[in-house]
Amino acid sequence: MAGERIAKGNPFDAASFFLIIMDKIEKLTKKIVAFRDARDWKQFHNPKDMALSLTLEAAEVLEHFQWKDALEVEKYVGTHRAEIGEELADVLYWVLLLSHDLGIDILDAMEKKGAKNEAKYPVEKAKGNHKKWDKLLMRQVIVESPFAGDEKRNIEYGRQCLRDCLMRGEAPIASHLLYTQDGILDDGITAERALGIEAGLDWGRFAEATVVYADYGITPGMRLGILRAKREGRPVETRKLFQKSYRKAI
Ligand SMILES: [Mg+2]
Repeated sequence: MAGERIAKGNPFDAASFFLIIMDKIEKLTKKIVAFRDARDWKQFHNPKDMALSLTLEAAEVLEHFQWKDALEVEKYVGTHRAEIGEELADVLYWVLLLSHDLGIDILDAMEKKGAKNEAKYPVEKAKGNHKKWDKLLMRQVIVESPFAGDEKRNIEYGRQCLRDCLMRGEAPIASHLLYTQDGILDDGITAERALGIEAGLDWGRFAEATVVYADYGITPGMRLGILRAKREGRPVETRKLFQKSYRKAI
């Protein structure tokens, strides 16, 4: 199938290269399946045991490197490339056979997973960085800082808190600064205040922590946020902007 399409294309463009690989994978899979069928082994091949075999073969790759430091590994690879290759081939055998039996187009799956990885590991964040994708992203936090009382001062302080979060690489949400703006909710109306608090705390489903800015103390509204975080198992961190060294979990 892939072979016929290659004949029509330019062998040097990317699409043709992909077709060549596709053709090779198809041929290899056919060969492997024929090998199995000639021995009547399909009867033993359920997905669970095939996945198990795949893992065991991967462990055999690992065995080559066990107990060796970086220098020893380098020397070893130089003299055992063929043996390591055999174990990698065993891994590929199970990948192809399992994909075949499950009706998975492995090249298509690789293409799709590759596109996902491109999105998860953007070059500007992942280059030279081995962190897992979720650690490369910004840390989402709920900000607790005072609002009621001296509103002017508290809004100004709240903005400084947001800036502090952003400078730490966090993506903060401060519902008390967002929803209390003109035309959104009226903090003086009990039901609207409650709605704003609930909407803000709902972000707890995504937030990794609640960060409490305590330079002006802990208000009843902030306490609600802290209690909710504790109830939901979200870490609570207390910070003070005017006393840089102060930072502890409560
Ligand atoms: Mg093996």
